[in-house]
Amino acid sequence: MKAFEKNIRKVVPYVPGEQPQNKVVKLNTNENPYPPSPKVREALQKIDTERFRLYPDPTSGGLVEALAEYYHVEPEQVFVGVGSDDVLSMCFLTFFNSEKPVLFPDVTYSFYKVWAELYRIPYECPKLDAEFRIVKDDYKRENGGIIFPNPNAPTAIYEELDVVEEIIRENQDVIVIVDEAYVDFAGRSAMELIAKYENLIVVQTFSKARSMAGMRIGYAISNPRLIRYLNDVKYSFNSYTMDQTALVCGVEAVKDQEYFVRTTKTILETREWAKKELAGLGFVFPDPRANFIFARHPAYTGRELFEMLKQKNIYVRHWDTERIADYLRITIGTKEEMQQLFDCLRDYMEEESHLIL
Ligand code: PMP
Repeated sequence: MKAFEKNIRKVVPYVPGEQPQNKVVKLNTNENPYPPSPKVREALQKIDTERFRLYPDPTSGGLVEALAEYYHVEPEQVFVGVGSDDVLSMCFLTFFNSEKPVLFPDVTYSFYKVWAELYRIPYECPKLDAEFRIVKDDYKRENGGIIFPNPNAPTAIYEELDVVEEIIRENQDVIVIVDEAYVDFAGRSAMELIAKYENLIVVQTFSKARSMAGMRIGYAISNPRLIRYLNDVKYSFNSYTMDQTALVCGVEAVKDQEYFVRTTKTILETREWAKKELAGLGFVFPDPRANFIFARHPAYTGRELFEMLKQKNIYVRHWDTERIADYLRITIGTKEEMQQLFDCLRDYMEEESHLIL
């Protein structure tokens, strides 16, 4: 080993879902199957590339104002970043600096562990219960901060707001971050608790319900004080996180509420139908409250179904890790894409049962 090796920061990186460049039925990274609002396209067509000479607005002012208006908060309560991954990463760096462990569930979004390791933040992961529910009493011990997604990933389970509030209320000496990447498909947001709890940060994204994963826009809403701390860290890291195009397109996406409501409703309808179809095929799954379903089949391993689907150019997500190795995380696509998935699963299961007979 070279001497310099010992001073290199070595990390085990987060592994994102595959982004195959050929055409596949892509149900593996919880993207929206519908394009963003037509207003986004119109705005994009009007973008003057002459403007690319200049640095973008470091305050992301227009987008911050549009979000403040949307949530009826002050612009000083809004922080934006390059997808919610960037926002969450900045939050880890800014708010989790205790000697005590940060708490997040086991099982949850696997990036939390990566940031904790990267920034050398101590952490502990209370286990979800047998039904994959968050055990709220596990978050009533000494800690250096708390983060969890609601709905959780990859389980798609949504905890009602009274559970979320109890965790925030019991932890007012530390920062609690609620990652609401999927809340638009679920129920009430913790945004309504921002005015009540000084220790709360709610993080959301344009990647899911607003169909803009490729534009990379995420945001945090909190009180002006915590947002100031977050901005201080951001400006110590990279002043120009948001590019000119993302800023312009983001504003249009926030404004087109009617389109957002319509596409979200279609995804929810498809999810309800997908639940019936998957149950009919023998799958079991916790009540999905996100734009995906976390399902297993008692007669097949997760890996077998994952590989089989991939061969047929249908991509879903699968992890070979403890407790969840038999599950597939299936993003809700268009009705046509879901039909292809069901047909493929049905054909395989029928073929298999003939082989057994
Ligand atoms: N939080 C959760 C729970 C997620 O599943 C994701 C998507 N991978 C993110 C945050 C990050 O999404 P993005 O960076 O696209 O906003």
